[in-house]
Amino acid sequence: MHIHFMKLAIEQANLSIPVPSGYCVGAVLVQETHPDPDSDLPQLDRFKVVATGYSRELPGNTHAEECCLIKLAAAAEEEAEKELDAGLVADGEEEEEDEVHGVENEGRRSGPTTGMAGIRRLSMTGGGGGGGGPSHAHHHQQEHHAAISALRRRRSSVKLRQEWIMYSTMEPCSTRLSGHRACADLLVESGVRRVYVGVREPDHFVKTVVGVEKMVERGIEVVHIPGFEELCLAPNQHVLSQQ
Ligand SMILES: [Zn+2]
Repeated sequence: MHIHFMKLAIEQANLSIPVPSGYCVGAVLVQETHPDPDSDLPQLDRFKVVATGYSRELPGNTHAEECCLIKLAAAAEEEAEKELDAGLVADGEEEEEDEVHGVENEGRRSGPTTGMAGIRRLSMTGGGGGGGGPSHAHHHQQEHHAAISALRRRRSSVKLRQEWIMYSTMEPCSTRLSGHRACADLLVESGVRRVYVGVREPDHFVKTVVGVEKMVERGIEVVHIPGFEELCLAPNQHVLSQQ
């Protein structure tokens, strides 16, 4: 079972585009839907993947674990917006995303800049080669960067349920040279119960790697799944071969 999800995380890691300044990591967030160990259900049916992520999947030098949390935050907001819309838009009028609605919509997070739809659009226009001409593409690019920054600020408010488990090909980071919050801290804040890792973070970028220690100290159970070290490190040869 754990092997199944670790393999999924490795698939994610291999989607990551290598850059000299970062590892390629994959992560899968799983919910235990039937925690009863005596359940007759096959083991795999008791778990559900709620989010996946890989290094730099979302713009802004994002990490795999972080992408899982950002996507969850986006999905939760989209859900909340839908509920709000259901309550507010009684006449079925489609809302627009311009200043006309400025005042009453000010507190809302609607529009093209947040939510899964925005993120999906971003992935599609990722190469900047989309239709609409360069300035159009550029505008969208900026919009999406703003969306990710906004979600980044709110992502730490994502509370995971106790039965949620993170699988990561590499130990969640304890320090980020970019200055963003470390994944170990994000996971502690999110309330995840257990984290499975394929390999510890090599000391290429950060010499004192304490992601595991940080999480264990704060009550997260961290489990190393042995046997996947080679597969987890394989997408990182661009970094490790420099040593
Ligand atoms: Zn990280």
